[in-house]
Amino acid sequence: MRFSRVFCSGILLVAFMGCGVTAPAQVGESIRITFLDVGQGDAVLIRSPEGQTALVDAGWSSPVTSLRALDVDELDLLVATHPHADHIGGIADVINSIPVRFYMDNGQTHTTSTYQDLASTLQQRTDITYLIAEPRSISLGSVEIEVLPLLPIASTDFNNRSIGLVVRYGDFSAFLSGDSEVEELSSWVRRGVVPDVTVLKAPHHGSYNGFTSEFLADAEPEVVAISVGSNTYGHPHAEALEAYTYAAETVLRTDLDGQITIVGYEDGRYEVVLGEEVTAMVQGCSVGLGVVGMRYIYE
Ligand SMILES: [Zn+2]
Repeated sequence: MRFSRVFCSGILLVAFMGCGVTAPAQVGESIRITFLDVGQGDAVLIRSPEGQTALVDAGWSSPVTSLRALDVDELDLLVATHPHADHIGGIADVINSIPVRFYMDNGQTHTTSTYQDLASTLQQRTDITYLIAEPRSISLGSVEIEVLPLLPIASTDFNNRSIGLVVRYGDFSAFLSGDSEVEELSSWVRRGVVPDVTVLKAPHHGSYNGFTSEFLADAEPEVVAISVGSNTYGHPHAEALEAYTYAAETVLRTDLDGQITIVGYEDGRYEVVLGEEVTAMVQGCSVGLGVVGMRYIYE
Protein backbone atom coordinates (compact mmCIF):
# COMPACT_ATOMS: atom_id res chain seq x y z
CA MET A 1 0.00 0.00 0.00
CA ARG A 2 1.18 3.51 -0.50
CA PHE A 3 0.69 6.68 1.41
CA SER A 4 -1.66 8.77 -0.68
CA ARG A 5 -2.30 12.07 1.05
CA VAL A 6 -2.38 14.02 4.23
CA PHE A 7 -6.01 14.62 4.95
CA CYS A 8 -5.70 16.93 7.91
CA SER A 9 -2.89 18.55 9.77
CA GLY A 10 -2.82 19.93 13.25
CA ILE A 11 -6.36 21.22 13.36
CA LEU A 12 -9.74 20.03 14.46
CA LEU A 13 -11.18 17.91 11.69
CA VAL A 14 -14.86 17.23 11.84
CA ALA A 15 -16.48 14.52 9.78
CA PHE A 16 -19.57 16.58 9.09
CA MET A 17 -23.01 15.17 9.49
CA GLY A 18 -26.25 16.83 10.36
CA CYS A 19 -28.69 15.62 12.97
CA GLY A 20 -30.28 12.41 11.77
CA VAL A 21 -27.89 12.00 8.87
CA THR A 22 -25.98 8.75 8.46
CA ALA A 23 -22.53 8.63 10.01
CA PRO A 24 -19.52 8.76 7.70
CA ALA A 25 -18.17 5.41 6.55
CA GLN A 26 -15.17 5.29 8.84
CA VAL A 27 -17.33 5.29 11.95
CA GLY A 28 -19.50 2.26 11.19
CA GLU A 29 -17.73 0.19 8.54
CA SER A 30 -14.26 -0.12 9.94
CA ILE A 31 -12.31 -1.58 12.79
CA ARG A 32 -10.56 0.96 14.99
CA ILE A 33 -7.44 -0.01 16.89
CA THR A 34 -6.27 2.68 19.29
CA PHE A 35 -2.92 2.62 21.03
CA LEU A 36 -3.63 4.74 24.08
CA ASP A 37 -0.87 7.08 25.23
CA VAL A 38 -0.20 5.48 28.62
CA GLY A 39 3.50 6.27 28.93
CA GLN A 40 5.79 3.27 29.38
CA GLY A 41 3.22 0.48 29.11
CA ASP A 42 0.53 -0.92 26.85
CA ALA A 43 -3.20 -0.27 26.49
CA VAL A 44 -4.79 -1.08 23.15
CA LEU A 45 -8.47 -0.57 22.41
CA ILE A 46 -10.13 -2.55 19.61
CA ARG A 47 -13.56 -1.46 18.41
CA SER A 48 -15.47 -3.56 15.91
CA PRO A 49 -17.60 -2.03 13.14
CA GLU A 50 -20.64 -3.05 15.19
CA GLY A 51 -19.35 -1.21 18.26
CA GLN A 52 -18.09 -4.13 20.35
CA THR A 53 -14.92 -3.35 22.27
CA ALA A 54 -11.87 -5.17 23.56
CA LEU A 55 -9.09 -3.68 25.68
CA VAL A 56 -5.72 -5.39 25.62
CA ASP A 57 -3.77 -4.32 28.73
CA ALA A 58 -4.40 -1.14 30.72
CA GLY A 59 -1.04 0.53 31.39
CA TRP A 60 0.52 1.33 34.79
CA SER A 61 -2.36 3.48 35.92
CA SER A 62 -5.97 3.83 34.97
CA PRO A 63 -6.80 4.49 31.30
CA VAL A 64 -10.47 5.08 32.19
CA THR A 65 -10.40 8.81 31.32
CA SER A 66 -9.06 7.99 27.84
CA LEU A 67 -11.62 5.22 27.40
CA ARG A 68 -14.47 7.54 28.39
CA ALA A 69 -13.17 10.15 25.91
CA LEU A 70 -13.52 7.43 23.27
CA ASP A 71 -17.13 6.79 24.37
CA VAL A 72 -16.35 3.33 25.73
CA ASP A 73 -19.19 2.46 28.12
CA GLU A 74 -18.74 -1.31 28.10
CA LEU A 75 -15.92 -3.74 27.35
CA ASP A 76 -16.86 -7.04 25.77
CA LEU A 77 -13.36 -8.38 26.37
CA LEU A 78 -10.51 -7.32 28.64
CA VAL A 79 -7.14 -9.01 28.17
CA ALA A 80 -4.12 -8.96 30.47
CA THR A 81 -1.25 -10.15 28.27
CA HIS A 82 1.01 -10.90 31.25
CA PRO A 83 1.10 -9.84 34.90
CA HIS A 84 3.65 -7.01 34.78
CA ALA A 85 2.54 -3.69 36.28
CA ASP A 86 2.96 -1.67 33.07
CA HIS A 87 0.27 -3.91 31.54
CA ILE A 88 -2.09 -4.71 34.43
CA GLY A 89 -1.67 -1.67 36.71
CA GLY A 90 -4.80 0.03 35.37
CA ILE A 91 -7.00 -3.05 35.02
CA ALA A 92 -8.60 -2.99 38.50
CA ASP A 93 -9.80 0.57 37.95
CA VAL A 94 -11.16 -0.35 34.51
CA ILE A 95 -13.09 -3.24 36.05
CA ASN A 96 -14.43 -0.99 38.81
CA SER A 97 -15.44 1.75 36.36
CA ILE A 98 -16.67 0.09 33.16
CA PRO A 99 -18.82 -3.06 32.78
CA VAL A 100 -16.69 -5.95 31.49
CA ARG A 101 -18.17 -9.15 30.03
CA PHE A 102 -15.14 -11.41 29.50
CA TYR A 103 -11.68 -11.29 31.07
CA MET A 104 -8.74 -13.27 29.72
CA ASP A 105 -5.24 -13.79 31.10
CA ASN A 106 -2.47 -16.37 30.71
CA GLY A 107 -3.26 -18.13 34.01
CA GLN A 108 0.01 -17.05 35.56
CA THR A 109 0.09 -15.44 39.01
CA HIS A 110 2.59 -12.94 40.37
CA THR A 111 3.70 -11.92 43.85
CA THR A 112 3.45 -8.14 43.35
CA SER A 113 0.85 -6.06 45.17
CA THR A 114 -0.39 -4.84 41.77
CA TYR A 115 -1.18 -8.42 40.75
CA GLN A 116 -2.63 -9.32 44.17
CA ASP A 117 -4.94 -6.27 44.10
CA LEU A 118 -6.15 -7.21 40.64
CA ALA A 119 -6.69 -10.85 41.65
CA SER A 120 -8.81 -9.90 44.66
CA THR A 121 -10.82 -7.42 42.55
CA LEU A 122 -11.51 -10.16 40.00
CA GLN A 123 -12.44 -12.69 42.69
CA GLN A 124 -15.29 -10.46 43.83
CA ARG A 125 -16.63 -10.04 40.31
CA THR A 126 -18.53 -13.20 39.50
CA ASP A 127 -20.40 -11.26 36.79
CA ILE A 128 -17.25 -11.27 34.65
CA THR A 129 -16.65 -14.49 32.70
CA TYR A 130 -13.06 -15.69 32.94
CA LEU A 131 -11.25 -17.06 29.89
CA ILE A 132 -7.89 -18.75 29.99
CA ALA A 133 -5.64 -17.91 27.05
CA GLU A 134 -5.44 -20.97 24.81
CA PRO A 135 -5.64 -21.35 21.06
CA ARG A 136 -9.14 -20.20 20.22
CA SER A 137 -10.98 -17.71 18.06
CA ILE A 138 -13.09 -14.98 19.65
CA SER A 139 -15.68 -13.05 17.65
CA LEU A 140 -16.01 -9.37 18.35
CA GLY A 141 -18.84 -8.59 15.96
CA SER A 142 -17.37 -9.10 12.49
CA VAL A 143 -13.83 -8.94 13.92
CA GLU A 144 -12.11 -12.25 14.68
CA ILE A 145 -9.48 -12.39 17.41
CA GLU A 146 -7.22 -15.45 17.24
CA VAL A 147 -5.42 -16.39 20.46
CA LEU A 148 -1.99 -17.89 19.80
CA PRO A 149 -0.51 -20.86 21.71
CA LEU A 150 1.58 -20.06 24.77
CA LEU A 151 4.82 -21.65 25.89
CA PRO A 152 4.32 -24.03 28.87
CA ILE A 153 3.88 -22.32 32.21
CA ALA A 154 7.11 -22.18 34.28
CA SER A 155 9.15 -22.95 31.14
CA THR A 156 10.19 -19.35 30.63
CA ASP A 157 9.85 -15.82 32.01
CA PHE A 158 6.79 -13.58 32.19
CA ASN A 159 7.48 -11.65 28.98
CA ASN A 160 7.79 -14.82 26.92
CA ARG A 161 4.32 -15.96 28.01
CA SER A 162 2.61 -12.78 26.82
CA ILE A 163 -0.72 -13.54 25.18
CA GLY A 164 -0.42 -13.22 21.39
CA LEU A 165 -3.45 -12.05 19.42
CA VAL A 166 -4.07 -11.83 15.69
CA VAL A 167 -6.94 -9.43 15.03
CA ARG A 168 -8.67 -9.79 11.65
CA TYR A 169 -11.30 -7.74 9.88
CA GLY A 170 -11.50 -8.83 6.23
CA ASP A 171 -8.12 -8.20 4.64
CA PHE A 172 -7.03 -5.92 7.49
CA SER A 173 -5.17 -7.49 10.41
CA ALA A 174 -3.07 -6.65 13.44
CA PHE A 175 -0.64 -8.54 15.66
CA LEU A 176 -0.53 -7.78 19.39
CA SER A 177 1.72 -9.64 21.80
CA GLY A 178 2.49 -7.65 24.94
CA ASP A 179 6.16 -7.96 25.86
CA SER A 180 7.08 -11.02 23.77
CA GLU A 181 10.78 -11.55 23.37
CA VAL A 182 12.83 -13.68 20.99
CA GLU A 183 11.91 -17.02 22.61
CA GLU A 184 8.15 -16.59 22.23
CA LEU A 185 8.33 -14.88 18.83
CA SER A 186 10.55 -17.71 17.55
CA SER A 187 8.14 -20.36 18.85
CA TRP A 188 5.31 -18.74 16.89
CA VAL A 189 7.48 -18.53 13.77
CA ARG A 190 8.33 -22.26 14.13
CA ARG A 191 4.64 -23.13 14.48
CA GLY A 192 3.82 -21.05 11.40
CA VAL A 193 1.22 -18.93 13.19
CA VAL A 194 2.63 -15.49 12.34
CA PRO A 195 0.58 -14.17 9.41
CA ASP A 196 1.28 -11.25 7.11
CA VAL A 197 -0.39 -8.38 8.95
CA THR A 198 -1.26 -4.76 8.34
CA VAL A 199 -0.34 -3.50 11.81
CA LEU A 200 2.19 -4.75 14.32
CA LYS A 201 2.34 -3.56 17.91
CA ALA A 202 6.07 -3.61 18.51
CA PRO A 203 6.62 -6.37 21.08
CA HIS A 204 8.16 -5.24 24.39
CA HIS A 205 8.02 -1.49 23.77
CA GLY A 206 10.53 -1.55 20.93
CA SER A 207 13.19 -3.49 22.83
CA TYR A 208 16.14 -5.03 20.98
CA ASN A 209 14.81 -8.41 22.18
CA GLY A 210 11.26 -7.77 20.86
CA PHE A 211 11.87 -8.79 17.25
CA THR A 212 13.72 -11.22 15.03
CA SER A 213 14.32 -10.93 11.31
CA GLU A 214 12.33 -14.17 10.77
CA PHE A 215 9.39 -12.81 12.75
CA LEU A 216 9.36 -9.53 10.79
CA ALA A 217 9.72 -11.42 7.49
CA ASP A 218 6.55 -13.39 8.35
CA ALA A 219 4.58 -10.46 9.80
CA GLU A 220 5.49 -8.02 7.00
CA PRO A 221 3.76 -5.14 8.78
CA GLU A 222 2.82 -1.98 6.96
CA VAL A 223 2.53 -0.04 10.20
CA VAL A 224 4.48 -0.62 13.41
CA ALA A 225 3.12 1.07 16.52
CA ILE A 226 5.46 1.32 19.51
CA SER A 227 3.77 1.86 22.86
CA VAL A 228 6.50 3.52 24.90
CA GLY A 229 7.12 6.36 27.33
CA SER A 230 9.88 7.73 29.49
CA ASN A 231 11.91 4.74 30.71
CA THR A 232 15.31 3.65 31.97
CA TYR A 233 15.63 0.66 29.60
CA GLY A 234 16.45 2.73 26.53
CA HIS A 235 13.22 1.70 24.77
CA PRO A 236 12.83 1.90 21.90
CA HIS A 237 16.28 0.56 21.11
CA ALA A 238 18.07 1.81 17.99
CA GLU A 239 18.36 -1.69 16.46
CA ALA A 240 14.60 -2.22 16.83
CA LEU A 241 13.81 1.15 15.26
CA GLU A 242 16.14 0.34 12.38
CA ALA A 243 14.52 -3.07 11.84
CA TYR A 244 10.99 -1.66 11.97
CA THR A 245 11.84 1.23 9.65
CA TYR A 246 13.25 -1.30 7.18
CA ALA A 247 10.28 -3.69 7.51
CA ALA A 248 7.36 -1.26 7.53
CA GLU A 249 6.22 1.82 5.65
CA THR A 250 5.26 3.64 8.81
CA VAL A 251 6.66 3.48 12.34
CA LEU A 252 4.73 5.34 15.02
CA ARG A 253 5.48 5.90 18.71
CA THR A 254 3.09 6.93 21.44
CA ASP A 255 5.85 8.97 23.14
CA LEU A 256 6.26 11.14 20.03
CA ASP A 257 2.91 10.80 18.25
CA GLY A 258 0.56 10.55 21.25
CA GLN A 259 -2.52 8.41 20.88
CA ILE A 260 -2.43 6.38 17.67
CA THR A 261 -5.56 5.07 15.96
CA ILE A 262 -5.53 2.80 12.95
CA VAL A 263 -8.85 2.71 11.11
CA GLY A 264 -8.97 -0.52 9.08
CA TYR A 265 -11.31 -1.40 6.23
CA GLU A 266 -12.46 -4.81 5.06
CA ASP A 267 -10.52 -4.48 1.80
CA GLY A 268 -7.27 -3.95 3.71
CA ARG A 269 -7.06 -0.17 3.32
CA TYR A 270 -6.39 1.76 6.48
CA GLU A 271 -6.06 5.26 7.88
CA VAL A 272 -3.77 6.47 10.62
CA VAL A 273 -5.15 9.02 13.04
CA LEU A 274 -2.72 10.67 15.44
CA GLY A 275 -4.00 12.51 18.47
CA GLU A 276 -7.13 12.38 20.52
CA GLU A 277 -10.40 11.95 18.76
CA VAL A 278 -13.29 14.06 19.89
CA THR A 279 -16.99 14.09 19.25
CA ALA A 280 -17.79 17.57 18.03
CA MET A 281 -21.08 19.19 18.91
CA VAL A 282 -22.81 21.91 16.90
CA GLN A 283 -25.95 23.48 18.35
CA GLY A 284 -26.48 20.47 20.56
CA CYS A 285 -26.23 17.95 17.73
CA SER A 286 -23.37 15.51 17.47
CA VAL A 287 -21.66 16.06 14.14
CA GLY A 288 -19.44 13.02 14.29
CA LEU A 289 -15.91 12.15 15.13
CA GLY A 290 -13.21 14.71 14.77
CA VAL A 291 -9.56 14.56 15.52
CA VAL A 292 -7.06 16.97 16.96
CA GLY A 293 -3.90 15.94 15.20
CA MET A 294 -3.09 14.29 11.92
CA ARG A 295 -4.95 11.95 9.64
CA TYR A 296 -3.30 9.98 6.87
CA ILE A 297 -5.02 7.78 4.34
CA TYR A 298 -3.35 4.76 2.77
CA GLU A 299 -4.70 3.06 -0.35
ZN1 LIG B 1 5.79 -3.96 29.27
